[in-house]
Amino acid sequence: MIISEPSIANVPAPGQTLLGILQGVLDATRESVLIVDSSRRIIASNQAACDAFARQNGGLREKRLSEVIRDLSLHEAFTRAIENGKASDIKMDFIGTEKRSYDINVSPIYLDESRHAIGVFYDVTQIERLEKVRQEFLSNVSHELRTPLTSIMAFVETLEDGAIDDKENNRRFLGVIRRNAERMHGLIADILELSMIESGNVFIEVKQVRLFNLVEDVFAALSSKAAARQIKLVNKIEEGIKVAADPVRLEQMLTNLIDNGIKFNRPGGSVTVEIERNGSTNSIAITDTGEGILTEHLQRIFERFYRADRGRTREVGGTGLGLAIVKHLARLHGGEVSVTSALSRGTTFVIELPTGLHPSRF
Ligand code: ADP
Repeated sequence: MIISEPSIANVPAPGQTLLGILQGVLDATRESVLIVDSSRRIIASNQAACDAFARQNGGLREKRLSEVIRDLSLHEAFTRAIENGKASDIKMDFIGTEKRSYDINVSPIYLDESRHAIGVFYDVTQIERLEKVRQEFLSNVSHELRTPLTSIMAFVETLEDGAIDDKENNRRFLGVIRRNAERMHGLIADILELSMIESGNVFIEVKQVRLFNLVEDVFAALSSKAAARQIKLVNKIEEGIKVAADPVRLEQMLTNLIDNGIKFNRPGGSVTVEIERNGSTNSIAITDTGEGILTEHLQRIFERFYRADRGRTREVGGTGLGLAIVKHLARLHGGEVSVTSALSRGTTFVIELPTGLHPSRF
């Protein structure tokens, strides 16, 4: 919510009129306030209302309500207050420089013995945005958990119904159950990790990290996966090079990106890690020879649960959270992560880390 500074000029000095005091109080309020007379003209407003509704440089005073805000239910609410003395609560979307949502209370108010109406506008744009994010997150998590769980339940039932004695298939069914349980485990671990980072409870401990060795460690951990898919892992980092980073977090970022490079590659392809030092930035590039990512997905793949190709991701077993975690970890280092991709040629992710990070706890 944009909070405007209350205008000091409007705060009444001792001895000023009650109206002056009232104006001062109104201007100090975050909510927009409009007072409208029986001919639907605005006779008083506060600073927040001017900021929200006054078109460039135009004030609100003496304007018709309909000139300022075109919304039928708002006009009906003001009419109800003025003509019938009835208060009402309504919701309204207002499109100015951006779309904002308001909860509005309109009540009758008596001034000089005639009935006017006062509208108090609560800006709920941010609350609604957060609520939407929360709902989407919950529905994504439920959906992601339900799929492997359904599969586990189905295979347990099959085993119970007799397949447990089927020597040819029982181990295969158990394998499916284990894979799905692992997927749920991975998903929950990623969700917890992400929520820890987002809540600001993760700190980084910067050290001088030998990058060649770190990449070798990640390659070793992923070597059987790469071999199974016939992917060559290439470490092009010079042996002596050190970068300032939290070693655990850098390993986590590299693991996520190299793992993706393997998953979304083609048999016979490769994943290469290189570094370029330019000025105040170390750029670590992870390049694969996979199918690439369509431009329309590129900007969104760092969002939680976003997948460029749902079917393929399910097949290769991803949570859709890996890149969101990488983005947060890069930013925790004061850096960034970016991506470029060419269809059918491959994708390059670049982790940019400031060289000036000092060994310390952030
Ligand atoms: P996932 O667990 O699905 O891999 P990520 O957050 O790591 O989740 O990645 C999000 C999506 O971005 C993936 O589902 C995939 O569609 C796309 N993606 C990520 N890395 C690559 C890559 N190297 N090549 C092609 N697509 C990729």
